Order: sequence, then structure tokens, then C-alpha cells
Amino acid sequence: MKTFANYIDGQWIEGKTTAPNVNPSNLDDVIGQFAEADADDAQRAIAAARKAFGPWSVSTPQQRFDVLDQAGTTILARKAELGRLLAREEGKTLPEAIGEVARAGQIFKFFAGEALRLGGEILPSVRPGLTVEVTREPLGVIGLITPWNFPIAIPAWKIAPALAYGNCVVFKPAELVPGSAWELVNILVESGLPQGVLNLVMGRGAVVGEAMVASPDVDAISFTGSVATGSAIAARCVASGKKFQLEMGGKNPMVVLDDADLDVAVEACINGAFYSTGQRCTASSRLIVTEGIHDRFVEAMCNRLAALRIGDALSADTQIGPVVDARQLEQDERYIAIAREEGGTVIGGERLERATPGFFLAPALVTGTTADMRINREEVFGPVASVIRVKDYDEALAVANDTPFGLSAGICTTSLKYATHFRRHVQAGMVMVNTATAGVDYHVPFGGRKGSSYGPREQGSYAREFYTTVKTAYIHAGQV
Ligand code: ADP
Repeated sequence: MKTFANYIDGQWIEGKTTAPNVNPSNLDDVIGQFAEADADDAQRAIAAARKAFGPWSVSTPQQRFDVLDQAGTTILARKAELGRLLAREEGKTLPEAIGEVARAGQIFKFFAGEALRLGGEILPSVRPGLTVEVTREPLGVIGLITPWNFPIAIPAWKIAPALAYGNCVVFKPAELVPGSAWELVNILVESGLPQGVLNLVMGRGAVVGEAMVASPDVDAISFTGSVATGSAIAARCVASGKKFQLEMGGKNPMVVLDDADLDVAVEACINGAFYSTGQRCTASSRLIVTEGIHDRFVEAMCNRLAALRIGDALSADTQIGPVVDARQLEQDERYIAIAREEGGTVIGGERLERATPGFFLAPALVTGTTADMRINREEVFGPVASVIRVKDYDEALAVANDTPFGLSAGICTTSLKYATHFRRHVQAGMVMVNTATAGVDYHVPFGGRKGSSYGPREQGSYAREFYTTVKTAYIHAGQV
């Protein structure tokens, strides 16, 4: 069995312990043994990043462009193979996984260009003889903590801007998906990153993540994961004066109005709620449907659900792969039971047997729910969506906003009036009209409001807000 080491200060370092990376489509298939860093490894990685920051922070944009562009080229060239690894360790289908890898490659290409595009401003001072120059500088050492549901895209959209703007990185991937993270770091190393600039510390959140959050030598933390962990990290960062950025949960509404094109609405809801096994923070988990279309919508959804093929992520005809692990499966089943106890009618949602032992679950649609039920207030993070029947657009908007979260929101309608009003008044960072709540481009801002997110947006040129700090300089040139 192959063993995969951490990467600290330019060296591959074995862990004192290792953990197996298991395929959720086939529990007999172990992808490899992955090193588990401890707090000392994390400290060494942080120290290496600190040491490397001096030279890297003043590297030329061309140097940074070259590394990131090369990494992007390699990722794109290897997307079929890396996609296979990703599908094998996380359980999304092969086309979804290859698409995610391609997106990671494009992110590196985009941020290669951003290294060249980072400009500043020159303003006249209100005082005579003075000029004001506003520039951006890197922050220092950034700790990146990522979740399991996008094993390569989320690391890419944190690592690429961090490096593009001249920061050094300590990267801790999620325990369940170290394979894609390891390959990504290996590609960056082979693309010519100097020693210490990027460090990989695989291991447990409570040990490695905790050491990063606690260290005075880490200047900023970018985290994507659960609300509970994010809130704890936020409190620690405030106490130690670190800059931080959090992307956490969602309970994303998709409104379907009477005047919607039914086929468009069903497609957007099936995709948004169930593709990638519903394991996306932008998944549509609350389908808010007006009464004139409700019954036709539910019937069409049930027909589509019954025809979905759930199985091994690597099989060509699979549309929905397995749930990522036993703990998540238990959570999905618990919420399905809660929805039933609260009075919802559950269609689907049963465990499925396949040729190999894996975490297969039929997607669940829960009808007859109300906005106050737990199934509509708490994030499940699985292939589970509920239907809330409402009278009209006004009630639909009110229900859509009746949530502690605010990541993504959607509406299916042919009315320009309602689409326009919804775009303006829904409380979410991202709004989709007649398309799924999940699935955002790599070059535009990603992030939410309320309990979903904290700090500046990720992705696109907006990423510079988090990964740089602004300097205002005055130049006194005398009388000219
Ligand atoms: P999930 O429940 O979906 O796994 P988590 O928020 O627990 O979400 O995990 C997201 C990331 O946060 C993972 O990389 C995990 O290892 C890390 N993590 C978990 N606990 C902590 C912690 N106490 N401090 C820092 N990072 C943590």
C-alpha cells in the first residue's frame, strides 16, 4: 500500500501515524495511507512558511505567474486521472469530479493572471505638494483549512490567490480527502515553488487545524467547513488578532412560481438538490413552491427521482454517487427521520445495496413541510430536499429569507418583475434565475451573507480583498 507524506519546508516528511483513505463507493478499496501531522509538524510548517515569506513576498509577478500558470496547465492536462482519484475518494461522479479538476486548473490560470494585474491607485492629496499612492501587499503566512466536499476546487481557490499575491501557505485538507490535496501540492512543487512557500499538513482538525489557529506566526486563516468549527475558529482568531474568512453552511431556497417553465424548474431543482449527492454548501435544500404549480411540480420531481441512477461514482452510468462516509450517512438518515416525525411525507431516502459495500442512499424529497420545521432550518448536507407550499410570490420571498443562512438562492419564473424583485430582495450572496443554486463560475465572487459566511468574498479578483492588505503612502515631491 502506498504511503503519502506531508510536505514541510521543501521536504516530504512521513507522519508518525497514518490514516487510510477509503473509497465510499467500495469500502474494500483503500486508496492509500496518508500521513497524519501532529502539532509539532504544524509548527515546523508554520516556521518554514514564515522564513520563506521574506523572499516570496518580493518575488516578481512573473515568477508567481510562471508557477501558477504551469500548475494550471498540469492540472488541466491530468484532469481525467485526477478526476478519477477525486471520484474515488469523495464519491461524486466521474464527470462531476473531472469538471471539478478542470475548474481547479482554470482557477490557477486565472490567478496566474491576477499576479500580473494587481495594481494600485494614485490620488492627488487634498494638501499641496503631496501625492497619495494606495497599494496592496501580501499578508504573510496564511493557514488554509478546507472541507471534504470539493477536494481540489476549494484548496485551489484558496491556495492560488494566496500565492498569487505573495503570501506563504500552510494547507490542511479535510481528513476524508487527502489524495487530491496531495496531488495538488505535488503539482505545485513540480511547477517550481520555492522551499517553504507552500506546506501540506494532512491530519486531524482538532490537532493540526487547532495548531494553525493558535499560532501567533499565522497571520490569517481561510476556512471552509461546518458552522460549529467556523464559529470556534472565529472566536480564536478574534482573540489572537488574526484576519479570517469563513465559508460555512447554507439552507438555500429555490422558489418555483406558478408561471415557471416546469421542465426548467424540475431540472434546476434535481440538479441543485441532488447532484454531487447534495453535498454542496450551495445545494437547494428548500424548494418553495406556489400553490398553482405545486402538485404538477411534485409529480414531475417524483418521476425524475425514480429514474435517477445511484451507484458507484466511477461507473459510467451513475448520476448520483454515494454519501461521503458513515457519519454523514447517519446524519442524512437522522434528518430524514426527523422530517417524518415532524409530519413531512418522505419520498425516497432509503439505503441502497449495490455490488460493492458503500454508503448508497436514495435521494429524498420531503413534501408537506413548513418553514418552521427543523428540516427547513438546519443544514443536512446530503441528498435531501424539502418542499414548502406557499400562496404567492410575497410569501415565497418571506420564507426564502426566513433562515439563519444566506449563501445562494434561486427562483424559477418567466416573470421579469418577480425575477428582478427577487434578485434585489433575497438575502443571499448569490442569486440564480432559472438555473440551479449550485454551480458558480471560477472568475466571479463566491460567498454569502448572515450565518453562511464571514469576511471578504472568495474567487475572482475579489479574492484580493482577503489575501492582501492595503497600504496608503504619501509622497512629498515639493513644489512642481
Ligand atoms: P465537517 O463536519 O463537514 O467535516 P468540519 O468543520 O468539521 O466540517 O471540517 C472542516 C475542516 O475543518 C476540516 O479540514 C477539519 O479537519 C477542520 N477542523 C475540524 N475541527 C477543527 C478545529 N477545532 N480547528 C481547526 N480546524 C478544524
